[in-house]
Order: sequence, then structure tokens, then C-alpha cells
Amino acid sequence: MRATFIYAAGDVRVTDAPDPKLVEPSDALVQITRACVCGSDLHPYHSAPATPGGTTIGHEMIGVVTEVGAELRTLSKGDFVIAPFAISCGVCEYCHAGPQTSCVNGGFWNETNLGTTGCQAEAVRVPLADGTLVKVPGLNPATADERLLASLLTLSDVYGTGWHAAHRAGVTAGDTVAVIGDGAVGLLAVLSARQLGAERIILMGRHEARTNLGREYGATDVVAERGQDGINTVLELTKGGAPKVLEAVGHLPAYEQAVGIVRPGGAISRVGVPQYDQGPIGWSFFGKNTTLTGGPAPVRAYIEQLLPAVLDGTVNPGKVFDRTVSIEDTPKGYAAMDARESLKVMIRP
Ligand SMILES: [Zn+2]
Ligand SMILES: [Zn+2]
Repeated sequence: MRATFIYAAGDVRVTDAPDPKLVEPSDALVQITRACVCGSDLHPYHSAPATPGGTTIGHEMIGVVTEVGAELRTLSKGDFVIAPFAISCGVCEYCHAGPQTSCVNGGFWNETNLGTTGCQAEAVRVPLADGTLVKVPGLNPATADERLLASLLTLSDVYGTGWHAAHRAGVTAGDTVAVIGDGAVGLLAVLSARQLGAERIILMGRHEARTNLGREYGATDVVAERGQDGINTVLELTKGGAPKVLEAVGHLPAYEQAVGIVRPGGAISRVGVPQYDQGPIGWSFFGKNTTLTGGPAPVRAYIEQLLPAVLDGTVNPGKVFDRTVSIEDTPKGYAAMDARESLKVMIRP
């Protein structure tokens, strides 16, 4: 099969790779229908150390089950499935109560201890498949609407991650929410906050095509300024700060912005993978009685809940995809996202 590997920062290639095989009786094999490039894939794209043999990459996909291990109870050959970006057993304490991203038996794609490879490929082996995969009954990817496939693919990560941001912050009806970041997760955090009943949603982002989609998803205000200017504008708009701040970037300036705009007594919910280990925890944070929450989203917990509105077209999270490439052109997809020419790139294996 063909699969994507990263060899060093900026060096992504598509090469031949061994076809996946069943290893454990709890495995399934999946033929990938659609995969995509994530904003978090750009972190290794910027900083991965040189690896002579390359490492597989990609963690978001939908596809069709082609083989099932002997222990599987919920899946059969031919099932159409959504794969969350984390692998989870479905039976441990964290799988029952959440967060599935802390599953004691699970892990992530592209991980040596689980022997997983990447989802930017034609096929993949899925460990703990009963716990990990979510079946979408009655859907045939060969005849399904392209827009529906795009929206289903967002349930693999970015929609569930945006939802997690809003859910962890405790967004409820009538709330004022600020969302930092106009990437796919930030825009879907806007959509999620709207679904949870937020009345005023301030989107902080400066890329107009993206913030326009943010308005379509429910943003009532867009603040393009950054740094102290951006903080001042939000403090003015909200007369003292936003009670719920969803941080969907992961870089220190975005977190500093969150600390600056949160209302006294409010909450900051982070879902951008932090690219920093130190930041404001002193008086600027403490003085406002700020709650800090968030983390890797247990998207597995949200898929069944979010699925009906995707299937009936009430929401269209798939609009975050603005480019589709073949598997061979995956490196071009990385370059386009890195140059911010593309918001999110879908891969059609
Ligand atoms: Zn992702
Ligand atoms: Zn588990």
C-alpha cells in the first residue's frame, strides 16, 4: 500500500509500505476512505528530528472494515467506521467515565508500543477495534455525499476537539464565549458553543475567509487584533472579560491572550496541544480566580452524541475542508496548510 512518512522537518513523502495485518485478536483492518492533515501535524512538520527510515504520520480517518480479529463483537467486514485520534479499549475506568484519551490499554496512532502506523495511508491496523471504532450503520462510502463524508471525518478529531473545549469550559445557554484561533478546531469550537446555547461568541482570528466561516458557525463578533490590543478589544466588548475562553491554538501567546481576556471567576479551556511548558500562573492568572481546564479531547466519547446532527445535515462541520488531494499529493497538502493557503486538507487515498 501507499503511506505517508515524515523524515525530518518539512520532509514528508509518500512511499510503499507493508500492507497492515491482524496482530491481536482484538484488531481490525480498515481500508481508508478519507484521511486528512491536522493542524497538530504541522508541529512535527516544523520540528521533527531527522529519521533515516521515516515515521508514519496521520491520526484522522474514516473507512471500511476489511478484516476483523477473532475477539471482535461489534464490528464486521464491510462496516463503515469513524476512527477517533486515540485508541481506547472501551472497558477500563477511563473509557467508562472518560477521558478515553487516558485509556490504560490504549494509546495513539504512530506509536511503537502499540505497533500502530499512520492514517495518511491507504489502510491501517486498528488495535482494540471494538472500543476504538464507531460504526455508522447504513452508509456506503461509494455513494455517500462528499459533504457528508467531510463532516463525518471531522468527528475523528477537530469537531470532537472543538466540542471538548466548549464542554470542559461548561458552556451553557445564554453564555458569552471567546474562542482563540481560526483554525479548524477554533471554528468548530464556535459551532459547538453555539450548539450548547452560547448567545455571544467572540472569535479571535485574522484570516478573513476563516472568520467568515466562523460567523456562519455562530460567531457574533470577530476580533482580528492580537496581543494586548486584542485583549483590550475583548475586555471592552465584554465589559470585563469573557466568562468562558476556548483556546484552540497551543502556542504561548494564545494562552497569554486567554489569561488576559478571561472574566474574573471564569474558565479557560485549552485544546490546542501546548507548545510551551511555562506560562502565566502568577497574579494575572490567580488574581481572577481562573479555572484552567482542557486537554487531549476524548472524541470517542462524543461521536455518538454529535453524529445525528451531522447525518441529518443540521450542522456541516466538514466545511472546514477547503482542499482535497490524492494520497500521492499529501506533501503538497502539508505545504498548503503550512503556508496557510489551506485551512484543512482532505486526503483521498
Ligand atoms: Zn488531529
Ligand atoms: Zn480503556
